[in-house]
Amino acid sequence: MTRTDFDALVIGAGVSGLTTAVCLAEAGLRVKIWAAEPPERTTSYAAGAMWGPYLVEPVDRVRVWSAQTLDVLRQLATDPATGVRLVSGIEASRKPVEPPEWGDQLDGFRMCEPSELPDSFATGWRYRAPLVDMPVYLGYLRGRLKAAGGMIDIRRIDALGEAVQVAPLIVNCSGMGARDLVPDPNLTPIRGQLVVVENPGITEFFSEDTGLSPDLLHFYPQGETLVLGGTAQPGECSQEPDSGTAAAILARCAEIEPRLRNVQVVEHRVGLRPTRPNVRIEEEQLDGARVIHNYGHSGAGVTLSWGCAFEISRPI
Ligand SMILES: Cc1cc2nc3c(=O)[nH]c(=O)nc-3n(C[C@H](O)[C@H](O)[C@H](O)COP(=O)(O)OP(=O)(O)OC[C@H]3O[C@@H](n4cnc5c(N)ncnc54)[C@H](O)[C@@H]3O)c2cc1C
Repeated sequence: MTRTDFDALVIGAGVSGLTTAVCLAEAGLRVKIWAAEPPERTTSYAAGAMWGPYLVEPVDRVRVWSAQTLDVLRQLATDPATGVRLVSGIEASRKPVEPPEWGDQLDGFRMCEPSELPDSFATGWRYRAPLVDMPVYLGYLRGRLKAAGGMIDIRRIDALGEAVQVAPLIVNCSGMGARDLVPDPNLTPIRGQLVVVENPGITEFFSEDTGLSPDLLHFYPQGETLVLGGTAQPGECSQEPDSGTAAAILARCAEIEPRLRNVQVVEHRVGLRPTRPNVRIEEEQLDGARVIHNYGHSGAGVTLSWGCAFEISRPI
């Protein structure tokens, strides 16, 4: 392969890589993805995934990227085949905290009446937001990339220098892989574990504002199934589901929603949120090629995906 075969090579086939590749391919570029793992083995596959800027900085750019992504996800929600739906529900806290500053971007955002909250909760807010069924959505993005002429090769690289031989533009969407690939010691994992169960008929989401606790509590209805969460364990790297953690997630959720007692478990999911002080959208030159980094989205990679991809593909 030579540098003239493709206009752009994207590293990574998670939500960041696929969305960026779609934007570049739909802008008319010849695009290839190299990914060590296919979409169904990425952190992106493991995500819940609710729109919401969680565990991510810098605040001013995150607000723009998340607002742009919100617009796109709202449009995609008009087609059920995308895996995106608009779902209503409640986020609540056991302590008297302020509602999130991004609430004003969401449809129907309002504070809850005390009677709407579970026992022992002090405050809460109701809204309607995009909820993404990641296995379906990653398949949708993959199909959209193919339709625009883009392709995916399963191939791990050990250095970005390998990529610059193939195209004049490289977009590095390698998630946690960037820690070794760049290398970037500022990138650390925040492990997340979820339990997918048969849905006993729940149509609204519930999420607890747990602050910086590693133990999260949420349930997201995905039609026939329900995604129960979760954890946010800084520095933990194990990608194997832990049975004790799964049992604790089920117990936390069942305490809020009695219909979740004794539900049938369908799947366990684990992912490592690629976390750094700030999301890295930054360009550098390497051996005469442009390398644009697009990683470090922590707990909000889905929420930021279209905004980040627009920023990268706009000047092309
Ligand atoms: C449990 C959990 C729940 C979450 N919930 C939400 C949510 O509700 N909303 C939300 O917005 N976000 C959520 N997130 C965060 C979100 O999943 C991540 O921010 C997002 O998936 C990061 O996507 P990515 O494409 O950057 O990385 P990844 O999905 O990790 O993809 C990285 C890609 O790069 C490839 N790669 C890595 N190294 C190399 C290499 N050396 N050579 C070639 N390829 C390489 C990998 O194989 C993979 O294809 C959640 C995360 C977890 C774990």
